[in-house]
Amino acid sequence: MITVTKTFFPPITEYQKYLERIWQNQWLTNNGELFHELSSSLKNYLGVNHILPMTNGTLPLQIALKTFAQGGEVITTPFSYVATTSSIVWENCTPVFVDIHPEYLCIDETKIEAAITSKTTAILATHVFGNPCHIETIEKLASKYNLKVIYDAAHCFGVKYKGESIFNFGDVSTCSFHATKLFHTGEGGAAFVQNKQDYHEIYYRHNFGHDGPLRFHGLGINAKMSELQAAMGLSVLPHMPDILDARAKVCAFYDKALTSSRIQKLKIREGTDWNYSYYPIIFETEEDLLQVEKAMNQEGIYPRRYFYPSLENLPYIQTKTCPIAHSIASRVMCLPLYVGLNKEDLKKIVSFLC
Ligand SMILES: *Cc1c(COP(=O)(O)O)cnc(C)c1O
Repeated sequence: MITVTKTFFPPITEYQKYLERIWQNQWLTNNGELFHELSSSLKNYLGVNHILPMTNGTLPLQIALKTFAQGGEVITTPFSYVATTSSIVWENCTPVFVDIHPEYLCIDETKIEAAITSKTTAILATHVFGNPCHIETIEKLASKYNLKVIYDAAHCFGVKYKGESIFNFGDVSTCSFHATKLFHTGEGGAAFVQNKQDYHEIYYRHNFGHDGPLRFHGLGINAKMSELQAAMGLSVLPHMPDILDARAKVCAFYDKALTSSRIQKLKIREGTDWNYSYYPIIFETEEDLLQVEKAMNQEGIYPRRYFYPSLENLPYIQTKTCPIAHSIASRVMCLPLYVGLNKEDLKKIVSFLC
């Protein structure tokens, strides 16, 4: 069976080495040694200002919204994973959908200004498939209208934009370290911020609001990463160069093999060092997609309709439609992409698309 993704498992002995340290320390969570080691290793590897690893990639979104959006209208798009919109609603904010760019698949920056009202407090934009949003325009609008910028950068591990980590943009960027993502800790994620004050704001909220053992700074929740998660991250991180290399080769194969003008590929924004996180293709029609999907499934190949459906269709959303997002969501499919896909698998996959 060939699935859309396959979790990378580091050699078990490398994981065991970290487990032994956990047993030696007799320390499983709350500011543990491995949590700190992972934080500083990731900080160096990614070249970021401040990182706070958490227990998944959704809580950093919720905490960022709690901190910066404060119940207002939040500009976002319906072409993302459900967590982007559900977090806005969960935090009692109102999602205001702006359509996406038909080639970059991120929020269409030219349509943001028209959606800003006196109630707008933040922009929550997803760097879709690791492809950066139009950061410069978003920054300009944010300073003109005094808005906070949160990037859902769940797909962006290792992405650089104009030579700098993509996580160094916006007031907060968040990443997911879920087992299906490029770099993982089983379940996990992180918030990235640009200064100490914001770090403190996010930090206390991720730990019940504690400010020292006996004092509370404000309202918080539990989003702490455990030592077991950190151990997995520390075991996976040294393999990132090999993981990226293997994935780059798969992408290069697809790039070369998929020449049909009936298949649209992702356009990566100029100035981006991309991370080969997904290989989306967009069919001309949903019927084409369904036909190919069915034929692949019969041969044991399971690509994924991602993102589908468009988030305007969520049962708790009532807003106007975004025609481009709606159309793309119905026609997009992510092809299998993981370490260990061999040439034969790849040839079989593309045979359905040529
Ligand atoms: C995976 C993902 C999330 C959620 O991350 P979890 O770690 O699964 O909580 C949020 N946004 C996007 C775009 C994602 O792909």
